[in-house]
Amino acid sequence: MLAQEFLVKLKEKTNLKISLKVKNYRSRIVSIVVSRFDKKICLHEKFLSSDEYIIQNLLDYCINQNKTSLKIIKNYANQNFFKNKIINEKIFFLKGICYNLQDIYDNLNTGYFDNKLNLKITFFKKPKYKKYRSITFGLYDDRNKLIKINKILDNEFIPFYFINYVVFHEMLHNLHPVTIDNNRRKVHTKEFKEKEKTFPYYNEAKEFEKKFIKKGKIDGWA
Ligand SMILES: [Zn+2]
Repeated sequence: MLAQEFLVKLKEKTNLKISLKVKNYRSRIVSIVVSRFDKKICLHEKFLSSDEYIIQNLLDYCINQNKTSLKIIKNYANQNFFKNKIINEKIFFLKGICYNLQDIYDNLNTGYFDNKLNLKITFFKKPKYKKYRSITFGLYDDRNKLIKINKILDNEFIPFYFINYVVFHEMLHNLHPVTIDNNRRKVHTKEFKEKEKTFPYYNEAKEFEKKFIKKGKIDGWA
């Protein structure tokens, strides 16, 4: 549903002047400010994709501040978009300036994983690096099933194959968990490494990575 459609439904139910904003709140679901003449409603954007039942309860709450409705929409929010606080706090930079992580992830999932992986992906903000020697291009957080990609890769000087390679690498971490062998943690197992080499631009990517780290910057880099 579009915000506009929701606004029309609200207006059908009251004579007050209504204004509606949609926000990506961190932990709030709706805010309602009422004066004698108007009502300002600010709604969590995720509600717009909920079903008719939730929409009805939402309308009821917005117009009448009905407590039962509030309970219902709160439950819905907790189950659907505040499920995991940790993720919600950081959610979600998918579209960079150059690269769209969701597209990259989806393509790789289709091309190499039979669409079997069910992970989330986001950029993380690049820390300030003095040198790139210890740079982390990507991370995989198994608890949250979340891939995090360094925002530094969202740059036209980073080849498309390279950011694809980094995402591919992090996706493999989901398939090949850490093993413990003789008290030693192995993050990149033999199977992991073999699978990684099947990436068509593996050699180019490794070459680029080396150059990047060595130079501390790449040609044309701002
Ligand atoms: Zn790794």
